[in-house]
Amino acid sequence: MSSTSAPIKPRYVSYATHLRQTFGCRVHKVSIDAGFTCPNRDGSVTTGGCIYCNNTSFSPGNRRLSITEQIETGKAFLQRRYGAKKFIAYFQAYTNTYADIAHLQDLYDEALACDDIVGLSVGTRPDCVPDAVLDLLASYASHTYLWLELGLESGHDQTLALINRGHNVAAFDDAVSRARLRNLNLCTHVILGLPGETPDDMRATIRHIANLCLDAIKLHHLHIVRQTVLEKMYRKGSVSLLSLDAYAALVADCLELLPPDTIIMRLMGDAPRDMLVAPMWSQDKRAALNRIEQELERRDIHQGSAYTGTLRPNQIP
Ligand code: SF4
Repeated sequence: MSSTSAPIKPRYVSYATHLRQTFGCRVHKVSIDAGFTCPNRDGSVTTGGCIYCNNTSFSPGNRRLSITEQIETGKAFLQRRYGAKKFIAYFQAYTNTYADIAHLQDLYDEALACDDIVGLSVGTRPDCVPDAVLDLLASYASHTYLWLELGLESGHDQTLALINRGHNVAAFDDAVSRARLRNLNLCTHVILGLPGETPDDMRATIRHIANLCLDAIKLHHLHIVRQTVLEKMYRKGSVSLLSLDAYAALVADCLELLPPDTIIMRLMGDAPRDMLVAPMWSQDKRAALNRIEQELERRDIHQGSAYTGTLRPNQIP
């Protein structure tokens, strides 16, 4: 007699699984640098940018190439390396809604016209999504797969001021509620380990996000990259970083607090080896992700097991 064992329930909702279920094949994001700048750098909001920001550390796109050229180059790499079949054009570098509507439309249209592009992901700041931009994104969302990625980083105004974000939590909440009115898929970014924050502060940020019921989240550890204000602070000894064990424990806390269906787009940050100053544990990404999995297993917890908010109809088992 053969015995069948119950399938193992994943401990969190991974983006890769979501994409496979949505498209039925392997889908990857292609990063694009569309030549934007950022109001937090050009003086419209502040100058200097966020203290951890060096865009060359997270934007593999090459702004000297057209969007089509960047997409074709990225696709060829992802096809070779991962066997990807379809792609999402990821407007990643700087602030990807910081231009007039006609220009934004040209850029997004060019990306969508490329073969095998099945959607758009647009990364931006909460103070750079006026209603006209949200209306434009909603018009794309009506006929393509679209994500709006709004960086929050911390749910504490004191921390946002310290890291020179140039916006507060209320600006984020306002952007979320206006995007919600248009039914946009919403992802946010959070950094764990920002200067001055305790684990309780970080968990409070996650509770804030959990209450907003966003569709997805990216969790990053604080890392130091070259040529940033944060690098200077770190070299002076005024910034301490999380160990891998401490980070894994915090990620497990966050996953427990989030709604059970929030898509987890990232569990840690990435930086090119030649740009990374610290922590060095992040260079072995596989080992770091395994450590997080081990922590979830050791505690025998799943995403949402400590979520105390109201479940949406599709979350009720
Ligand atoms: S908002 Fe983004 S692009 Fe602008 S300074 Fe901050 S991290 Fe850099």
